Amino acid sequence: MTETEMVIIGGGIAGASTAYHLAQHGHDVTLLERGDIASEASGVNAGSIGATGWGHVPDLEAYLTMGSLEIFKTLQLDLGYDIEFRQSGTLQAIHTKAQYAFTHDRVQHLRAHGHSVELLTMREARSLEPELNPALLGCLYMPWRAQADPQKATRALAAAAARSGAHIRTQQAVTALQQRGDDTYLIETAHDTFVAGTLVLAAGAWCAEVGAWLGLRIPIVPVRGQMWATAQLGPRVFHTISSAESAMDWHHEPGNDQATPPYLTHRGSARRTRHLYGRQTRAGEIIFGGDRQVVGYHTVPDPAGIEVNHDHATEVLPLLHTLSITRTWAGLMPFSLDGAPLIGRLPQCRNLYIVSGLASSGFGRGPMAGKLLVDYIHTGHRHPVLAEADPARCVTVAE
Ligand SMILES: Cc1cc2nc3c(=O)[nH]c(=O)nc-3n(C[C@H](O)[C@H](O)[C@H](O)COP(=O)(O)OP(=O)(O)OC[C@H]3O[C@@H](n4cnc5c(N)ncnc54)[C@H](O)[C@@H]3O)c2cc1C
Repeated sequence: MTETEMVIIGGGIAGASTAYHLAQHGHDVTLLERGDIASEASGVNAGSIGATGWGHVPDLEAYLTMGSLEIFKTLQLDLGYDIEFRQSGTLQAIHTKAQYAFTHDRVQHLRAHGHSVELLTMREARSLEPELNPALLGCLYMPWRAQADPQKATRALAAAAARSGAHIRTQQAVTALQQRGDDTYLIETAHDTFVAGTLVLAAGAWCAEVGAWLGLRIPIVPVRGQMWATAQLGPRVFHTISSAESAMDWHHEPGNDQATPPYLTHRGSARRTRHLYGRQTRAGEIIFGGDRQVVGYHTVPDPAGIEVNHDHATEVLPLLHTLSITRTWAGLMPFSLDGAPLIGRLPQCRNLYIVSGLASSGFGRGPMAGKLLVDYIHTGHRHPVLAEADPARCVTVAE
């Protein structure tokens, strides 16, 4: 039996960041991961980091994105981890007049609130990204957005945590949890038993399963995301690339109900919209993805969805027409039913916390999600922006 002050379940970006920041404050913390660090969503994502600036009145989204950007910079520039970080900016392609009108309004709204975004003509966009299709109607430019290698970044956070004194234990699947009479938690894995006074759930798409062991209903749903890659080629794509189609469709109809999260590309097996994100990695592969579908814990990519996504990407970058797909993959994103993250204390149990529900943008938001949670745990004071991520809004005791 191992006694420790705090245990974190999950070695994705959320758990690794939580471990790093807790260890920085001198806490005795053990992270338990059933596979390797970054073996699930945090290691298979596109590596796109979203941000549009702090804005005049920074909200939760501004804190999560801009704060995470600073943590990525710290890892690479101050701590010396090569995570392939680049503040490349994003270009979002506009295909139709309706998308142009929608993006125009969005840019005006964001700029009025102090965010850094610009609506570019195709001449301006192609001077930044020469391979863009000249037939597009324009591009939304977001210069704060960035990219990094997801495996390297998540592992760097875990390594920095270990260097600060955290115990990172991989191949440790938690199989049972129990809150004991003395308010400590008994955490069982196949190899060991841990006792901790504080427990943090950072189990991504598996939070519902882990919460159920404590008699809690945590409404986080696994949503499959899938991607494809070309062979390696010389540098051709410099920004992260996306499309306005899904942004407009989700603005008009987020599509959530009591059992379905918002902002999905499919309802059941029927397609609602096309979503697109991608970039060229340092190794030279051009990688793209976009589909978000509820299919349980199934992680085999759907070839029909890959084909739709490849066609969509080719509309934006015609060079993809001649490049075949060399590999595909999928992972599970943790979506909450209202689309907002869960970062904070679970009031049903003593010293129980969660950092999850980071959905489709958890790589870019996970580092600061972990830091905000740690500031709360360490000081007992919850940052005001965490009010909208309060898990108490949706987590209940299971009947
Ligand atoms: C294909 C795809 C593309 C994406 N692209 C982007 C992108 O470009 N930008 C972006 O910001 N986000 C992107 N995302 C979303 C992002 O990857 C996730 O939001 C983020 O990684 C979630 O991090 P996490 O730490 O909460 O979960 P995870 O990374 O899933 O980590 C949870 C960990 O908990 C572990 N675990 C679960 N149960 C147990 C247990 N019982 N015992 C021990 N360990 C356990 C799992 O093994 C896992 O490693 C993408 C996701 C996918 C799938």
